[in-house]
Amino acid sequence: MWWTAEEEKQQLRQPDCLFCRIVHGELPSTQIYEDEQCVAFNDINPVANVHALIVPREHVTYLIGATEQHEPLIGHLMRVGARVARQTGIEDAGYRLAVNQGVDAGQIVEHLHIHVLGGGQLDQLGTPLGPI
Ligand code: 5GP
Ligand code: ZN
Repeated sequence: MWWTAEEEKQQLRQPDCLFCRIVHGELPSTQIYEDEQCVAFNDINPVANVHALIVPREHVTYLIGATEQHEPLIGHLMRVGARVARQTGIEDAGYRLAVNQGVDAGQIVEHLHIHVLGGGQLDQLGTPLGPI
């Protein structure tokens, strides 16, 4: 069993969450890095030459749902982002770490994650799709 009742009670994992299923090995991914706190894998629909996702093993839905107790985890995810950038060869040229929060940002997976984007010039940060 990959899922304990206690973990579910504590909401560390959600049975119907795509990223919970990936980080716990129930669904496949092209994994780049893993440790006890998080997993990094390639985005299935890349928008840059290098597009990886850093995903905490713990199910945290939104950035706005993160509490003080998550601060070390979030700091760790950022450091893993830098590590993945080095590992994928984009450290010197530059890259972007990004979190989509909510509808306007285009968040589609409700399990906190950091995008690692690079491998070529990126678009302007936060360019609105409509008039401002
Ligand atoms: P969001 O917009 O929620 O910040 O980004 C979610 C990302 O997850 C998207 O870039 C999307 O392409 C990626 N994604 C969605 N489903 C899968 C999947 O099954 N596997 C992988 N590797 N990435 C996925
Ligand atoms: Zn999840």
